[in-house]
Amino acid sequence: MRTDAQRERARQYYAENRERVLELDRARRQRNPERAPEIRRACYFRNHEKRLAYHRGRFARGQSWAQRNPERTRERDRAYQKVYYLDHRAEQAVRNAAWIQSNPDRVAHNSATRRAREYGADGSHTLQEWLDKCVLLGNVCFYCGEDKTLVRDHKVPLTRGGTNDIRNIVPACRSCNSRKHTMTVDEFGLVTEREKMRPTLRPASSSLRIVGVTSSVSPLPSERP
Ligand SMILES: [Zn+2]
Repeated sequence: MRTDAQRERARQYYAENRERVLELDRARRQRNPERAPEIRRACYFRNHEKRLAYHRGRFARGQSWAQRNPERTRERDRAYQKVYYLDHRAEQAVRNAAWIQSNPDRVAHNSATRRAREYGADGSHTLQEWLDKCVLLGNVCFYCGEDKTLVRDHKVPLTRGGTNDIRNIVPACRSCNSRKHTMTVDEFGLVTEREKMRPTLRPASSSLRIVGVTSSVSPLPSERP
């Protein structure tokens, strides 16, 4: 290791004899061309810490090239990403498929968010808010109470100006969600009430069956929805 004094002397010598030093370097490289890369590498590693400190300092002071050239940095990054994408397309596709497989909640959340945006709905909710709401409501369908796969149901539908805020959302099974369709909770409640009353109309059809009419007969008018 050279002392500071030695280093200072070397710097001064270089400043005064720059041409001569460079000429000697050139001659040495020509005598031993195979050693040049090795010497360059050694120099690179010898000054690694110093160089890092220099760049960190410039970055901290906001003087780095990237900070002075935000436009060109963005362009350069974009070009790099494009090349990277083309080079790694196949691996990326495999990785994406695996990610989709192992993140079903996130995938469903993203597509629900996209759908709400397409309707121009106000408000938004996070995946965590949705999961919390499911837990709060017992992880069962809000309408039929069954323990099935749950989807987001908008109490006031998006098609009727409902928001995508968590307060407008309840968990519902696919069946209830699609039967409710564009109805509000109150309207859907009336429909399910009416359905519950329907069994009292059934005896007519069971008596038909007794007299030997097959089940392929068309339903009685009272049975039609
Ligand atoms: Zn249901």
